Amino acid sequence: MTAHLDKLGRPLRNLRLSVTDRCNLRCLYCMPEEDYVWLPREDLLHFEEISTLVDIFTDLGVDKVRLTGGEPLIRRDLPTLVRLLAAKPAIRDLAITTNGILLGECAPALFEAGLHRVTVSLDTLRPDRFLALTRRRALPQVLAGIEAATRAGFSRLKIDTVVLRGTNDDELVDLIEYGKRVDAEVRFIEYMDVGGATHWSMDKVVSRREMLDHLTRHYGTVTPVREDSSAPADRFQLGDGTVFGIISSTTDPFCRSCDRSRLTADGMWYLCLYAKIGTDLRRALRAGASREEVKALIAPTWQRRDDRGAEQRLALAQRSPLAQSNDLRQNPHLEMHTRGG
Ligand code: SF4
Repeated sequence: MTAHLDKLGRPLRNLRLSVTDRCNLRCLYCMPEEDYVWLPREDLLHFEEISTLVDIFTDLGVDKVRLTGGEPLIRRDLPTLVRLLAAKPAIRDLAITTNGILLGECAPALFEAGLHRVTVSLDTLRPDRFLALTRRRALPQVLAGIEAATRAGFSRLKIDTVVLRGTNDDELVDLIEYGKRVDAEVRFIEYMDVGGATHWSMDKVVSRREMLDHLTRHYGTVTPVREDSSAPADRFQLGDGTVFGIISSTTDPFCRSCDRSRLTADGMWYLCLYAKIGTDLRRALRAGASREEVKALIAPTWQRRDDRGAEQRLALAQRSPLAQSNDLRQNPHLEMHTRGG
């Protein structure tokens, strides 16, 4: 299948599929507010609708699908959806990003349903910090979830850590060492000024440069891993062969190779994490549009795509949060937990 290219020559290849906007954590960099406007339940796509849309996307070139949320494991019967998607030969890579709380109970069913890969978000190994950062006491469940995933049969586990200055930037080494113990590749993510990050400020961002300096001081030589990939993480190797990644979305964005788009749980399709406007695929589907008609909505929209949100943010002289709480209340689709970060 020839991939459809956007205006910057980027293929339609990578679909991030949010299955719920709900989350069982309240991380300060994503959901700092006390209350939220949730998507109406009746608007959430049913599994059959998701499956139909995924077929349309794979016909247009998508071969990587990542389940996101909110917290995707909150969605009831998720393994049923995984089984539907895993049966599609066009999907080369079927992954999930989860906060890990429910992984202990779900990992065997997800593996058995055919999920390929698991990424767990984990920002700290210290219970008091976990509570302060997420406002939930759930670190033991997350750590148990990571071990359960390995026991269930998942390999190539990844751990994603958002690094915040003054909060967890002294845990880079601890996290790498933890990753070695559980056989997971740790990826450090720069704090991003996306929707939902209403407390974002540039001084809380720890740059890739700073992270590398810190790790080099501790480990000695840190060597870049040379690879040709559209993956967001730059990967590095320590002297003992341990590989870790850094996603420098804020100080050195990767928009030029970005092949990802996002489908929200209620069927809005966004071309960029920062896009203000999306395409309502649920409405088309529920109005009875044929597959060809939905394709005719998606393909030209991708071909017109020239989004490079993070690069444009980088060019701003003054950076502040993308959206204020009032904007987010009026348009919850701007939220990162709705869009699937
Ligand atoms: S900001 Fe938009 S274009 Fe840039 S990498 Fe993120 S999703 Fe892709």
